[in-house]
Amino acid sequence: MTQGKGRLLGTRRVIAGHFGLAAFVKSRERRTPLWALMLAAVWLDIVFVPLFLAGVETIQRLPGARGSYGTGIIYADYTHSLVGSAFLSALLGAAAAARWGRRTGIVVALVALSHWVLDLVVHRADMPLLPANAGSLPRLGFGLWRSPTASASVEFALLVVGAWTYWHATRGITPAAGQDRRRGTLVTALILIGGTLLLALDFTGTDE
Ligand SMILES: [Zn+2]
Repeated sequence: MTQGKGRLLGTRRVIAGHFGLAAFVKSRERRTPLWALMLAAVWLDIVFVPLFLAGVETIQRLPGARGSYGTGIIYADYTHSLVGSAFLSALLGAAAAARWGRRTGIVVALVALSHWVLDLVVHRADMPLLPANAGSLPRLGFGLWRSPTASASVEFALLVVGAWTYWHATRGITPAAGQDRRRGTLVTALILIGGTLLLALDFTGTDE
């Protein structure tokens, strides 16, 4: 694997946790399609990819770090600045509002912005407030990644809670519709298995 690709994969952190949150929101906001919430949950990372490939946003591996889970200092100064992420979230929310109405637009925008909040917990003080870290204000991040076990546990907990509330919600709809229930169980299994797999890959660093 090329260095560039390996490093790009190395950026796929906290994906499972973001998906868990999307599943949780779906259980409360049933009219919003699950895929739109999943897309919103990782929207900032999606926009990050072309900027990373263009060299605008970069990642530095911590010197001497072992494994890959949470061992990067990520200079995503546009997509992961507070103002930049609010802008990108509003943009996605506006697109969702045009398609599904105002309420869904707001929900999608908030889920997109939740990405920044979850990232804030794990990142190592590398997230700026303003795009391009204008004004050199202090960068933020609580650095839960310093304890990979703790942050992976938090992610896993988010995933399980999200999948469970989602599954529980699919039980409640139209008791006569056995089809929907079976589909709900299948999607829950996919979220759990897919999320756990992603987390395991991240945690063990086998994607590098
Ligand atoms: Zn991110």
